Amino acid sequence: MARVYTFSAGPSMLPEEVLKIAAGEMLDYHGCGQSVMEMSHRSKVFDEIIKTAETLLRELMNIPDNYKVLFLQGGASAQFSAIPLNFMNGSGKADYIITGQWAKKAYQEAQKYGSVRAVASSADKTFSYIPKTTREDFDPEADYVYICMNNTIYGTVYHELPDTGDIPLIADISSCFLSEPLDVSRFAMLYGGAQKNVAPAGLVIAIIREDMLGKARDITPTMMNYQIMAENNSLYNTPPCYTIYICKLVLDWIKSIGGLSAMRERNVRKAELLYNYLDSSKLFRGTVVPEDRSLMNVPFVTDSDDLNAKFVKEAEKEGFVNLKGHRTVGGMRASIYNAMPYEGVEKLVAFMKKFEEENL
Ligand SMILES: *Cc1c(COP(=O)(O)O)cnc(C)c1O
Repeated sequence: MARVYTFSAGPSMLPEEVLKIAAGEMLDYHGCGQSVMEMSHRSKVFDEIIKTAETLLRELMNIPDNYKVLFLQGGASAQFSAIPLNFMNGSGKADYIITGQWAKKAYQEAQKYGSVRAVASSADKTFSYIPKTTREDFDPEADYVYICMNNTIYGTVYHELPDTGDIPLIADISSCFLSEPLDVSRFAMLYGGAQKNVAPAGLVIAIIREDMLGKARDITPTMMNYQIMAENNSLYNTPPCYTIYICKLVLDWIKSIGGLSAMRERNVRKAELLYNYLDSSKLFRGTVVPEDRSLMNVPFVTDSDDLNAKFVKEAEKEGFVNLKGHRTVGGMRASIYNAMPYEGVEKLVAFMKKFEEENL
């Protein structure tokens, strides 16, 4: 079967170049006579893989030296508890902005550990926009402010960061990781699950400013203690070795196309093609206010549930898969992460035009 275009929100497409390299190296990695899946995580060969991955990530994201890079497990969702356990230890207070389901889950989890406030929310309009905040909205005593940078389900993104003054800012960047340049120094911590834009499932990458470390509560599970993970260079226990290896290949690929500025250009070009069509269509429309639109996740609808279902079904037959919107919002969603080629979006738009002509 020919490869389909998968618009899945995650796990999602990986660059074909990367899959081919991985296939070629499957049985014998660089002449060592074994697969990366089979080798010890303490071996010299694997040590080079994880170190190279970190070096490449630091280079691509321009990560300052006073930040640690951690390769973790448990999914982005495990960090919803790890973050309060590690950081909510001054005043025991934290401020969250609720921009969708992932932010809300993080907020609810944090409530188990301290006094947590929802500073702003866009729930009133099905999370179709990013609520505006000013520095005065935040509690100066808060141990941190938490945001979800790109809202995978609803298709919004922070184009401008909230001004939190001196309060450490923490962001979940799962669905916009490495999609465009980001000023790491604005954050106390960035983290994301790798399965959207960086690697297969099983890996979380956290980037943490060093002064944030060493304050974890005594009850923090060892596996969730960022300080311990940092002291052990992410090798406290067995890391997800093969996923880290694919991550390294993806980072090589991003570097080869020119880094994050080039990545952004590609992503803008793809997203504009789709948004421009949605804005001109008489059948489909985007659901997010134009100023907060994500480059990665593009939700859209027709005015009929039946037509939505018909579209998803017919698209699948044509090789455009996973276009169904999240179960909590319905409609459609095209996730067009880094690995989605321009051609994939171009063909999807051509198919949508045809569907519009036939069904209007
Ligand atoms: C997918 C996603 C998550 C959840 O990731 P898991 O690794 O499945 O826990 C959290 N936040 C955002 C923004 C996501 O897109």
